[in-house]
Parts: sequence; structure tokens; C-alpha cells
Amino acid sequence: MEKNETKIDPDVKKHLLELFPEELETIILQLGEKRFRSKQILNWIYQNREIDFEKMLTLSVDLRSKLAKYFENQLPGIKEKKLSQDGTTKYLLELSDGKFIEMVLIPAGEKNTLCISSQVGCARKCKFCATATLGFSRNLEVQEIVGQIWLAIKELNDSKLTNIVFMGMGEPLDNLESVLKAIQILQRDECFSFSPRRITISTCGVIPGIRKLADSGIKVKLAVSLNSAIQEKREELMPVTKHYPLAELKNALLDFRKKTAFRITFEYVMIKDFNMRREDIKALLFYLGDISCKLNIIKWNEVVNLPYKSPNEKEVKEFVQAISKLSFAVTHRKSRGADIEAACGQLAGKY
Ligand code: SF4
Repeated sequence: MEKNETKIDPDVKKHLLELFPEELETIILQLGEKRFRSKQILNWIYQNREIDFEKMLTLSVDLRSKLAKYFENQLPGIKEKKLSQDGTTKYLLELSDGKFIEMVLIPAGEKNTLCISSQVGCARKCKFCATATLGFSRNLEVQEIVGQIWLAIKELNDSKLTNIVFMGMGEPLDNLESVLKAIQILQRDECFSFSPRRITISTCGVIPGIRKLADSGIKVKLAVSLNSAIQEKREELMPVTKHYPLAELKNALLDFRKKTAFRITFEYVMIKDFNMRREDIKALLFYLGDISCKLNIIKWNEVVNLPYKSPNEKEVKEFVQAISKLSFAVTHRKSRGADIEAACGQLAGKY
């Protein structure tokens, strides 16, 4: 949004978490307040983690009542919170229209990674995904995306949120405008000052979105949920492949790599008797062989009513060994939060 488009109107309230610092400043000036007041407000929101107008005590009573008149400050509500034995916490969040999304906080040593949602449900119909069974409801708004990070930072208290991944409910590239604005707000020094290398968008392979992201100039890491390098098999698992075939996806990713600073990460969910055979490994090696990338492999978390099975430890070990021969960085990630249904969509599906 251009700066001069930001106008005050009590009937169309802006949300505090959807604004760039300069947009907030424009409104504050229109309200007849001094420029430094917007810095104070940003300080309350992002440094003091206080979004309640009444508790912003360095502001005059008059300004606080103007804020209440012209701005929204509602956050997603925590409806349910489940703590796994491994420290992972899954949150079910209720939005202002009564819809539900999920976010997952995953501690690992010094790192705290937050997995957030970008849509209510998802339209992409991946067969292994619990969110897909919910269908698509709507895109999240900027403040609902930034609000998840705000809540997580508050929940962490003195621990630092180190990484953000768009791997929760929804396909982030299907909600690109809001996702990109949220990312820019997160990265701004006046807001959370998040480093681009600590934010990852994960896509199922939406080629137009990948190209728009590359052209946007916004710095962010990209992960692709691959799960099979065989066209027919991937079509079966991820119908998006019919529209955006593997060969075209690869061209888009090579172009993305040329335009951006970060290596692409591929995610590969190991599914028993489906994508772990010799032919799968051979296809994976061929597909990724000439891309400068990283590969994360992870055991699929079983989801009730979905037709796939998790591999056993022996099968995982054999697959990991075979894949380790590949020349690029391979990471075997442990499934986290299996005891709390941490795969996205599993909790929201109950409501
Ligand atoms: S895996 Fe991602 S893109 Fe595919 S249906 Fe699930 S949420 Fe959507």
C-alpha cells in the first residue's frame, strides 16, 4: 500500500499489526499528533509486547482514546494449547470470525522455531496432509499472520524466537500479498527486526508464486515440499503437480536461485511403500543433482483416515543411508510432537 493511501476512517479501522511504520506515522499525523508518538506506539507493540491501548502508559489519555477509535488491536485467541513430551507446543488459535488455525512452537537447543499458518484450510489437496481434508476457507490477513508471531514471542517470555517457517495450514504462495507484507513488517527494524535468513516460506510448488516471490526483491528463504521426484507419483500425492509439472518447477527454482541469495531447501516426507524405493532415490538424485540446495527428510506422522503409513526405524535407516550418498547437504529431521497431533490440520479438524 502506498503511503498516501493510508487515510483515517473510524468506520474502516486499521489493525495495528497490519501497518508499516510509515503507514502508522501517516495516520498519527492525521490525528494531529506528533511524529514521535508513532515510534512510541511501535515500541509498545514490538519491544514491550503490549498491544492493549490502555496499558500504553507513556501515551496521553486523549491519544489512547483516539487509538481505540481508529484502530483494531485484536489478536487470535488461544483456544487450546498442547505440550508434547519433546517440548513442542501446538496452539489452536481462534480468529475474530470464529475460524480456527494452528501454529506450532518447536524448541531445539538454542533455537525456537515457529511454524505458522497462512490460510484457513487449504485448496491444494495434498493427499498426505490433514489440512487438505478441511478444504479451503479463506486467506489470512496480514495482522493474523503477524499476530501469530506476536503471540509466540509473548508465550516464549525470556527465550528468543529464532526462526519462522510458513509450514502450517495453507499454501503461503496462494496468499502471497498478505504473506509478503507480513514478512516485510517482521523484518523492519522498528518492528521485530527478523533476519531474512530466519524466515522460510514452504510451498507445494506453485510456480507463478515462486516467480513473483523471486521478482519481489523481498529476501526470504524458500522450501519446496517435494516428496517424490517422479511425475506420476507426485501427481498422485500432490495434485498441484498436474498444473505445475516437476520439469517446469525445476526451471522456476533454478531462476529463483539465480535471483536470490539463499539455497533452496527441499522437504521429503518418507512414506512407507510409496516414495522410499530404489527408483525414488534414483529420481531424487537426478532431479536435485544440479541444483544448489539442501534436502530435509522426515518421517511422515500418521494421520487418522489418510491412506498412508509411517515407515519403521529400519526402513528409515536404510533410506537415510542411501540418500546420504548425495553430494548436497542432507538433514534427517526427527518428527516432532507426534503425541500431540502436530501435523498441521490435525487439531483444527476437530472443530
Ligand atoms: S501440504 Fe501444504 S499445500 Fe498441501 S494441502 Fe497441506 S497445507 Fe496445503
